[in-house]
Amino acid sequence: MNDAVYDLLREDLRGRTPYGAPQLDVPVRLNTNENSYAVPEDVVAALVAAVAAVAPALNRYPDRDFTGLREALAGYLRRQAGTALTPDQVWAGNGSNEVLLHLVQAFGGPGRAALGFTPAYSMHPLICRTSGMTWVDGLRGGEASGFDLRAASAVAQVREHRPHIVFLCSPNNPTGTALAPDVVEAVLDAAPRSLVVVDEAYAEFARDAGDASCLRLLAGHPLLVVTRTMSKAFALAGGRLGYLAAAPDLVDVLRLVRMPYHLSATTQAVACAAIEHHETLLATVEAIKGQRDRIVTALGDLGLRPVPSDANFVLFGGLADSATTWKALLDDGVLVRDVGIPHHLRVTAGTPAETGAFLAAVGRLPDSHRLSEQDDPVPDLTDEES
Ligand code: PMP
Repeated sequence: MNDAVYDLLREDLRGRTPYGAPQLDVPVRLNTNENSYAVPEDVVAALVAAVAAVAPALNRYPDRDFTGLREALAGYLRRQAGTALTPDQVWAGNGSNEVLLHLVQAFGGPGRAALGFTPAYSMHPLICRTSGMTWVDGLRGGEASGFDLRAASAVAQVREHRPHIVFLCSPNNPTGTALAPDVVEAVLDAAPRSLVVVDEAYAEFARDAGDASCLRLLAGHPLLVVTRTMSKAFALAGGRLGYLAAAPDLVDVLRLVRMPYHLSATTQAVACAAIEHHETLLATVEAIKGQRDRIVTALGDLGLRPVPSDANFVLFGGLADSATTWKALLDDGVLVRDVGIPHHLRVTAGTPAETGAFLAAVGRLPDSHRLSEQDDPVPDLTDEES
């Protein structure tokens, strides 16, 4: 790096690496938890028509408060989670990463601390740190407990660190498991003056999708935020639309930090049309859940250690060296994710053909890729008390 650039760069950013899941052109891409199914033709036609309808008015700025989109999102959440939600309780951005950024800009920043429970979504610390916020890496249980986060442990860590923002992720990326409902309630009780963000990017894939959502806790919790995305179940990662639900007062202050007109007219039109066709788009969810469960069973049969999942991906352990296996699978045409947990990799549940290709590639791995139980008893990092 040029010295002048390095010298001027904020000190806390020097030497850091940007977020960067590899975007490689290989036959089977199962590394970023997208929906493997292409947008169906009738929905493509509806999206194109929606863009055509707004195109003549692109000389004007879009609706700054994306009123129609908020109504559509509130309607979807009401149907999906069976809760009463109004459009003024909904906010959206270019991907849920942007709504997370808005939350950190409004409630975090320099001199304030955020707590998450590692391993969880890597962008939570990244968004906090690039906003000058202190990040506290809290702990969840180890592999033997399915990387579980228990209520008593979460509460103890919240009480110890007294963060301004607590990040929970359910179902959790990269471990796949949804939080038990009592964990979120216990954190809300223990941190009544903190912002509690529950990242539900994968909510539609949960084994009990209705009950697992924290949307039902919004009434009575003015500092609870539930974030969602259209990038996963809706098969719209390229459309960039993430959203959140919270109390109207909380949503209202997010207008202080967003860029003017942050959601383009085409983004709003595409998202509204996609929500109108949600039943068609979400029809792939059951098939993906089937492939996810197939992966868990088959990897167990292949002598690996998959973690049961509520998401559209599976974390699996029992590997001698994650990086070596990642490369061997890539050489065999299958791209998965090395999430930095020793002896583990993460794979997205794709179409039956993609899942089949992944499992066949794992089946072809020589025995040297596997740890034997004897060499590697499942570690349990969970504190018995928690
Ligand atoms: N939260 C979690 C837990 C995720 O895994 C992701 C994407 N991998 C996101 C949020 C962000 O997704 P997007 O910005 O596409 O909505």
